[in-house]
Amino acid sequence: MTITTIPHFLNGEETTGLGERTQPVFNPATGEQTGALCLADRQDLEAAVAAAKKASESWGDISLAKRTAVLFRFRELVAAHTDELAAIITSEHGKVLSDAKGEIGRGLEVIEFACGIPQLLKGDYSDQASTGIDVFSYRQPVGVVAGITPFNFPVMVPLWMAPMAIATGNAFILKPSGRVPSAAMLLADLWKQAGLPDGVFQVLHGDRETISGLLTHPDVDAISFVGSTPVAKHIVETATAHGKRVQALGGAKNHAIVLPDADMDNAADHLAAAAFGSAGQRCMAISVAVAVSDAADLLVKKVEERALAVKVKNGTEPDADMGPVISPESKAFIIKTIAEAEHAGAAMVVDGRDLVVAGHEDGFWVGPTVIDHVQTEMSAYTEEIFGPVLVVVRVEDLEEGIRLINANPYGNGTAIFTTNGAAARKFQRQVQVGMVGVNVPIPVPVAYHSFGGWKNSLFGDKHIYGPEGVSFYTRGKVITQRWPEPTHASGASYNFPSN
Ligand code: NAD
Repeated sequence: MTITTIPHFLNGEETTGLGERTQPVFNPATGEQTGALCLADRQDLEAAVAAAKKASESWGDISLAKRTAVLFRFRELVAAHTDELAAIITSEHGKVLSDAKGEIGRGLEVIEFACGIPQLLKGDYSDQASTGIDVFSYRQPVGVVAGITPFNFPVMVPLWMAPMAIATGNAFILKPSGRVPSAAMLLADLWKQAGLPDGVFQVLHGDRETISGLLTHPDVDAISFVGSTPVAKHIVETATAHGKRVQALGGAKNHAIVLPDADMDNAADHLAAAAFGSAGQRCMAISVAVAVSDAADLLVKKVEERALAVKVKNGTEPDADMGPVISPESKAFIIKTIAEAEHAGAAMVVDGRDLVVAGHEDGFWVGPTVIDHVQTEMSAYTEEIFGPVLVVVRVEDLEEGIRLINANPYGNGTAIFTTNGAAARKFQRQVQVGMVGVNVPIPVPVAYHSFGGWKNSLFGDKHIYGPEGVSFYTRGKVITQRWPEPTHASGASYNFPSN
């Protein structure tokens, strides 16, 4: 197997930079090393920030018409390269090709939203706010934005950020996850082909040292982060202490509550797909089924049937439903957590720990797993497992289910399955979670709404993309103007200006 060197993309060019260290990149389905990722040193970081700062000055000043033209071309190029991007995602992440194409589709939606930036940046104007005085407000770019992204959506999460930051007139430095760095390189090439000036979109690979450099650099104005909660907390604390605007989206433990009146086949289909799709490595994956009273036995039986039918294969196989998990460390953590639940007395319904995929014995595999009678003090409940594991917690009624979800420290996504509109309404109003699905699992908002959780799932007050994305990447300015007639009255007034 040849090992490809994966460079940075700085100031319009691929470069291995001055850093001498590299990090291995693997194909999780085969366990083989496929890449050697160049890691930035301080000089590479300084070069990236300097190029971004310079580029932001001219890009922020360019007409909306010209900016939009680049975005439209970029949209067409990403769409035309969907197959190529999906193949890269599957080779480094492991998710199945159809799922990889799905994430690209959601990323395209954000680019399409960003294409409407002239409308989104229209300001407000108050004529004759006071006699002879007009007031208007509009928004200007913040300058240089750094985006730090997780492994689980190599294309979608960078596209939650970059098109919005660039459409609003900023320069954007992407620090992708070192486990899945190659898709970002193709995106950089597509931005260049779309006519984006050098330095406006750059890719800088690095480790904690590089991230720390971005979080503290005086010429970086804003940080968008998506990843796990402990890192999100660190990012927000460090970057805000250095005067930056920050949005940091963290981890999740998403519950789906199933009422006895729900269509159980429909609920089981959705639960299985939301728990095992992408091997459970989605921030909006359903990892806890909250089964209400009589729903439990039937629901568990139906989810078991579906879990046993999931085809776990290399994501490149056309009939694969689910691929591997990202790394041997992740596999070991998932298996350990399953074992802890078993030892603590939970009921193993489907056990994916010993899965072997023929021909791919060195891949990082864990099969779909369903654990019933899980208690809230068990690690399988308290930890974000981030693997294909669905735990079932049984409750007596809807109210107990809502209390359970609200007591959880995360608040990213949740869903209710029911045919009772009043119950659904009560749930969506009372649940303390940022994104709620009613008979819809994985309720990722469309691009013209904004994405974000509550509590430990988001730090900073702006959600990502959509209208809040426009707001995050810009600063408001209000102009109060008077154009006196040549014959205006003279004389100074020392009172506070009043209307
Ligand atoms: P991660 O937190 O390990 O890594 C995210 C990014 O932070 C990567 O670019 C990584 O290089 C960097 N990083 C890692 N450790 C760091 C440290 N100590 N200091 C500074 N930077 C560091 O997350 P991951 O494993 O790549 O992704 C999975 C996590 O992301 C899960 O917790 C998942 O729920 C979360 N996630 C959340 C959302 C959301 O919208 N809320 C979306 C996707 C993923």
